[in-house]
Amino acid sequence: MDSTTADPFRVPENGAADNGSGQHPALDPTVAERLKRDAAGLVAAVVQQHDTREVLMVGWMDDEALRRTLTSGRVTYWSRSRQEYWRKGDTSGHVQWVKSVALDCDGDALLVTVDQVGAACHTGTHTCFDGRDLAAVTGSR
Ligand SMILES: [Zn+2]
Repeated sequence: MDSTTADPFRVPENGAADNGSGQHPALDPTVAERLKRDAAGLVAAVVQQHDTREVLMVGWMDDEALRRTLTSGRVTYWSRSRQEYWRKGDTSGHVQWVKSVALDCDGDALLVTVDQVGAACHTGTHTCFDGRDLAAVTGSR
C-alpha cells in the first residue's frame, strides 16, 4: 500500500499495544505538538472506510485516544457524553481496524481510514450519514 517510513502516524502492522512496562507511554511528541485541540482537549476524527472511501462517522479523540489508536490498531475515541475512553467494537462487535491516520492542514482534525466490521453507526446503519440527508442542494452556484 503506502510507504510511510518514519511517519509518526504509522500504524504498526502487528497491532502491538503498550510496551509491557505497565505504564502508558505518552503520545509521540512530534504528533502531540502538531495537534490543535479544542477547549476540551479534543480533536475531531473523521473516519473513512479505506477502500470505498465512504465517510463512516465522526468521533473525538484526546492525546491518549489518539495514542491508543496509533499503537493498538483499533480506533479508540473519547466519549464526550460518558467522559470515558471508548474502543469501537468492544460492546457492539463493530470493530474498526486502523489502516492510516492523517492530520489535517491546521491540526484540529484527523482522518482515520479503517476497515469497518459491521455497522459503523450505533443505530445500526452502515454509516452515520445513511438516510439522514437534510436536503438535496441543487443549482446553488
Ligand atoms: Zn452514528
